[in-house]
Amino acid sequence: NTTLETHGFAAEVGRLLDLVVHSLYSEREIFLRELVANAADATDRRRFESLTEPGLAPPEAAKVRIIPDKPARTLRIADDGIGMTHDELIANLGTIARSGTRAFGETLAAAKPEDRPSLIGQFGVGFYSAFMVADRVEVTSRKAGAEAAWTWASDGQGAFTIAPGTREEAGTDIVLHLKPDADEFLDPIRLEAVVRKWADHVTLPITIARDGKDVPANEGTALWRKPKSEVGEQAYAEFYRHLGHIFDQPWTTLHWRAEGALEFYSLLFIPGSKPFEPMEQERVSRVRLHVRRMFITDQAELLPPWLRFVQGVVDTEDLPLNVSREMLQSTPVLARIRKAVTNRVLTELKTKAKDAETYATFWENFGAVLKEGVWEDSEHRKELAALLRFRSSAVEGWTSLGDYVARMKEGQEAIYFLAGDTTEALGRSAQLEGFRARGIEVLLLADPIDAFWPDRMDAFDGKPIRSVTQGAADLSRLAPLDAPEGEAADATALVAALKAALEDEVSDVRVTDRLVDSAVVMAAGGSGPDLQMQRLLRRAGR
Ligand code: ADP
Ligand code: MG
Repeated sequence: NTTLETHGFAAEVGRLLDLVVHSLYSEREIFLRELVANAADATDRRRFESLTEPGLAPPEAAKVRIIPDKPARTLRIADDGIGMTHDELIANLGTIARSGTRAFGETLAAAKPEDRPSLIGQFGVGFYSAFMVADRVEVTSRKAGAEAAWTWASDGQGAFTIAPGTREEAGTDIVLHLKPDADEFLDPIRLEAVVRKWADHVTLPITIARDGKDVPANEGTALWRKPKSEVGEQAYAEFYRHLGHIFDQPWTTLHWRAEGALEFYSLLFIPGSKPFEPMEQERVSRVRLHVRRMFITDQAELLPPWLRFVQGVVDTEDLPLNVSREMLQSTPVLARIRKAVTNRVLTELKTKAKDAETYATFWENFGAVLKEGVWEDSEHRKELAALLRFRSSAVEGWTSLGDYVARMKEGQEAIYFLAGDTTEALGRSAQLEGFRARGIEVLLLADPIDAFWPDRMDAFDGKPIRSVTQGAADLSRLAPLDAPEGEAADATALVAALKAALEDEVSDVRVTDRLVDSAVVMAAGGSGPDLQMQRLLRRAGR
């Protein structure tokens, strides 16, 4: 055949193909995401071109068709997009035209062989990912506005051919001759599951051929891209349940579009109840990252761990579809999105905190998680301090640090807390006696994390935060109690005797002002860890 041309792949394509084909792939289904994305892009491009050249407009019913053919063992992906000319087939499918793919290829080559599968699985490698499931790929394309069609074909082994082809209308057909172990992609049910997972929110209709019919396979809407005024409570709640597989109502819904230097859409929810899984299990945010509607990953850590209870989606135009893991960590775009999204959630919490009753629901569900931020995030520590709520020795219900400070006794310089296992037990603790007797309020902290964060927060509103177990020196400076009847006994001899008897058990024995009814109390040294912290460290075997 004289019209058959053979071309060698550009060297870098050869290397990339080698890696793709020879990595064992756990998530090779993403080839379909890549091909569907290309089809959708091509259709968009055709629509765009038709703005200036109306004759190029795609048909009204433009869609992506996925057609499995069991007897032939092929999978066809057909679109009504812009199509490619002879030269474009060579340029687009024979070289790596895009910096994104090149960067990805480099990341992939640098990765340890055992890490490659998940790298490919997560981020795809564009068109070439077809060779994960196919040992031969044929692309027949007809450019919109052109008469001729061309067929590009390759077995992914270093060369491809180009020959005249036939196609009635403009657009592109990709035919995959599936590898022997890729049978699953002939099953319409399996194909539908893949489309639902990765491309549910692509607006272009996607159909899968089944029993001679084209069955719609994608939702076709991206709720988060609709204007807020067009989305009802009901639709939000449904989407929320679909996201988290939970059946409660969101406590709050955040839906906004960022415009300007940074462009993204975001739809976030704070759940109305605690999840079934304990929140300590996985300390990462699972907010989903989409790029132009296409799902990319739920491991981009779009929010800090202490906001991991927030669920939802961020969809941006500012990243390539095959953003690599390295890029996820290093790209300034994502860093800026993270910052914007985190601030937005904090602002919402601040607003909601004005309504004590509503905020209490949130606090009881996720307060303990939020406190982790005070411990580990110096940047947001101050903002978070205002969002904290506590049980207290002086008032019913929840109280804030601000309220505590407003109630402080004259001459009181610090904010006092007592940490332990339950608020009930803390309320009865002998450690409180001296403070109670002097009318000094003590915050009762009963979450495990409470043993840690106060250490990192030096002060609130200029007032140091102090554990009542760390020395009682403060008490004697504060309002002294009325002297008890009769003469105060001299305890010097008793202290000496106790010191001798407990030599190995305690580091010191002191007379204290902090007790009223009880005879003795355990105290932590002035420096060093607080008592509850010591208990936790002991439990952790340290
Ligand atoms: P990307 O889509 O990120 O550019 P790909 O490897 O997925 O990278 O595709 C390479 C190029 O091939 C695309 O940029 C596009 O020009 C062309 N292409 C791929 N699939 C199609 C298609 N279905 N219709 C038209 N052009 C396509
Ligand atoms: Mg692509």
